[in-house]
Amino acid sequence: MKLYNTLTRTRDEFVTHEPGKVKMYTCGPTVYHFAHIGNLRSYIMEDVLEKSLEYVGYEVDRCMNITDVGHLSSDADTGEDKMLKGAKREKKTVMEIAQFYTNAFFDDCKKLNIRIPGKVVPATSCIPEFIEMVSKLLEKGYAYEAGGNIYFDTSKLSEYYVFNKHDAEDLETGVREGVEEDSNKRNKIDFVLWFTKSKFEDQELKWDSPWGVGYPGWHIECSAISTKYLGEYLDIHCGGIDNAFPHHTNEIAQSEAYLGHKWCSNWFHVLHLNTSGGKMSKSKGEFLTVSLLESKGYDPMVYRLFCLQSHYRKALVFSYEALDNTTVTYEKLLGRIAALSKDEMPLDEEAAAKLRASFKEALENDINTSLAITALYDVLKAKTNDFTKRTLIGEFDKVLSLSLLEMADEYAAKKQEESAAPAEVNEADAEILALVAERVEARKAKNFKRADEIRDMLAAMNITVEDTPNGPKIIRK
Ligand code: AMP
Ligand code: ZN
Repeated sequence: MKLYNTLTRTRDEFVTHEPGKVKMYTCGPTVYHFAHIGNLRSYIMEDVLEKSLEYVGYEVDRCMNITDVGHLSSDADTGEDKMLKGAKREKKTVMEIAQFYTNAFFDDCKKLNIRIPGKVVPATSCIPEFIEMVSKLLEKGYAYEAGGNIYFDTSKLSEYYVFNKHDAEDLETGVREGVEEDSNKRNKIDFVLWFTKSKFEDQELKWDSPWGVGYPGWHIECSAISTKYLGEYLDIHCGGIDNAFPHHTNEIAQSEAYLGHKWCSNWFHVLHLNTSGGKMSKSKGEFLTVSLLESKGYDPMVYRLFCLQSHYRKALVFSYEALDNTTVTYEKLLGRIAALSKDEMPLDEEAAAKLRASFKEALENDINTSLAITALYDVLKAKTNDFTKRTLIGEFDKVLSLSLLEMADEYAAKKQEESAAPAEVNEADAEILALVAERVEARKAKNFKRADEIRDMLAAMNITVEDTPNGPKIIRK
């Protein structure tokens, strides 16, 4: 399997530390608000990655954190604590906010057929592990105390910028404008491991530590949680592209300094979902959620398909027009699947082997989901029996997770209901309405001959007219 690796900037052959087994880590959501559909694009594509790894034969052990403490407005340790911001906004406690939005995130995952990773770990459940990691970093000389906080000393590393060739100048522009410089830092790019002297006097969640009462930095949580739950060697680490710097860069710095060896060999980053106005962001307040799409009549599966139609390494622009087009694509696909016979037949092994191979090849080609969907259409077009087609669709959908067989049944039932029920005439059907009106006038004028003629003309158009006390009721047969 070939996967693009942000670390080497090439498509590498995927190799795991232990043959056949994958240790996979995913940066989880910061639960101070609903996830927007941009966040969910990342989780959909990571879900496809996990299921693709399984499809090609790996056993995947996956862990995801829930960020319920320590993530500040700016990823560079400045600004307000996001959780505290959420709690103030809703006049609730931080833990109430965390619980509510963690559940909301899981609900969104369910709607989008995103499998919840086997291990889900809230940051607040691992405070002793964070303290242990920070203590060891201090002991090894990679960290220092200044102004009451503990910082990671980036000057101790031979290479800090592992993903991009940033330099300190780039970083200055990376840090939000108007944010004050932290004068405690020895180097501009050092980052906080543990806050004690916080400028947030009202910080709700604080824990005792060897350095005083305080709370962890955001980056340390992923290093400590992944080491605790997945061990010292990680095979693949994922997140949205904005996480590459500084979050993942800092995770690598801490983890490798702590462990004393290389930590994670493959980095999988999903590019952003943007709107025509630019990047989608929770902090902007107004943003698109799955529930909002549902309220506008879109099926969450349509959004999933919209994501799968493009490659995870390309930025994707969201528009309702694009989603409308995807709705048509999805319904047509369901219609074609619904038309397949459900009769049991012998599996056409030869055809199945070829079709499976092209689906697998698409996944092995850096999770090329649009090619995988082409492979799905190839199944529908193939010269083989319907049983083989349905079997393969079911198999492919273990990865694509578009609920194809279930939704095709639902789609077929809906269509049948629609055709069985006499549909009322569309008011825009001007010709029919004009004839009905003429018939009313003819009846009033006791011109029953003309009235009957019109009735026959309507009948020829599959329209019947029922005379009710409220006037004529038009029914399409
Ligand atoms: P957060 O809840 O802010 O910690 O982000 C959760 C995940 O969503 C992270 O992996 C981010 O990198 C990712 N993410 C944030 N914004 C976007 C976006 N517009 N498109 C895709 N992924 C995003
Ligand atoms: Zn993380």
